[in-house]
Amino acid sequence: MNILEKTLKMLEKYPLCDHCLGRQFALLGHGLENDERGNAIKMILTLEAHALAISKDKKGVKTLKTLATNGFFGIAKDILHRMKKRIPSKRLPKTCFLCEDKFKIVDELAKKALERLKSYEYSNFLVGIELPVTVEEREDEFKAEFEVSYGENMRNEFGRVIGKKIAEFSGKTVEYKKPEMVVLVNPLAEEVRLQINPLYIAGRYRKLVRGIPQSKWLCSNCWGKGCEKCNWTGKMYQESVEEIIEKPFLDAAGGVKASFHASGREDIDARMLGKGRPFVIEITRPKKRFLNLKKLEEAVNVYAKGKVEVSNLQFADKDVVRKLKKAESAQKEYRVVIEFENTIATKDLRLLEEKLTNIMVKQKTPLRVLHRRADLTREKYIYEVKVKKLLPKKAEMKIRCQGGLYVKELVTGDEGRTTPSVSEILKNKAKPIKLDVLNVIMRN
Ligand SMILES: [Zn+2]
Ligand SMILES: [Zn+2]
Repeated sequence: MNILEKTLKMLEKYPLCDHCLGRQFALLGHGLENDERGNAIKMILTLEAHALAISKDKKGVKTLKTLATNGFFGIAKDILHRMKKRIPSKRLPKTCFLCEDKFKIVDELAKKALERLKSYEYSNFLVGIELPVTVEEREDEFKAEFEVSYGENMRNEFGRVIGKKIAEFSGKTVEYKKPEMVVLVNPLAEEVRLQINPLYIAGRYRKLVRGIPQSKWLCSNCWGKGCEKCNWTGKMYQESVEEIIEKPFLDAAGGVKASFHASGREDIDARMLGKGRPFVIEITRPKKRFLNLKKLEEAVNVYAKGKVEVSNLQFADKDVVRKLKKAESAQKEYRVVIEFENTIATKDLRLLEEKLTNIMVKQKTPLRVLHRRADLTREKYIYEVKVKKLLPKKAEMKIRCQGGLYVKELVTGDEGRTTPSVSEILKNKAKPIKLDVLNVIMRN
């Protein structure tokens, strides 16, 4: 059946607006919207019907009446009027069978969305469409009845059309993968809601004093309610890295809540020095996103003065949190027995422990695996190193580090491809003679 015959069958049975008719042929032709398709098809049908009517073929007037009523087509109505053919008023349909005329109000829906978006800073968005099940089923049945094979669904079209409108009115862009704002529109109910995606900021923190836990630690007696034991604070410790850092972030972004994610954690009595530990702050429902991170960094460092210091602040996303968590869960402990070229002194062992704890190791792909792995530089974190002397030229080293660290190369230095390394720090050629994995630390 050709397009025109099929359309006539549809319109004889159901009233359809230009959008809903054109949508049944959405995959045909590029660069035009469904209402243009629908309008073009109705136009051709009207011209053909007009020709038939002029040649006194009864089918002509009948088709014009169908177009004037179920097709909502003004030109057909006009032709009938000039031919003095009357359209029985009871045949005039009220609304489009499929969309209930909601494509007529996309401008209003877009404006409603803009009104909601007004109080937030954002640069991109995505439109999500919510349709009643009955409306979707009605369209499915319609498609089956007319064997529609080049169609698109109503959800898609509403999403695209409203998205274009919002983009046009706001100057913002549509983002499919990681939108900052999701505009949830229910066109049938004429409702618009916002889903404000979190703002993620990554950085590194250093903890300059001992005695502060990384995260908020509730009182084990009252679980936060406040009791005599915790001096009515509800907490075991008055402050934490998390709480110290969060406040300036929340103030700057105007969010309702912040969550702190870090790659592993140090003990309460350990300082976190060096380049610091990677973290991500997730701010829920932020009002502001266009933050000056340099200024924010200063604000945090003033607020946390002497206790915690942040650096390298940058905008991040959910994936960075996932990576952080993954790295965290793969924490490992190793034991390696090392043989040295020259005799070692006790102070050498302490030096090793100091230089290899809470640091980031840079490793180029080891020479021994280079033939099957890409040549990359990886950064792996070592949380802790402990060294014990076994013989004048032999020692045992325990390392707790991020998964994926090449431990043998940490010992040898791999001709300068891993830095720092045991050989480099002691200027004493070292080689691993026994390596054991002691523990894989999984954090829920
Ligand atoms: Zn419609
Ligand atoms: Zn308590």
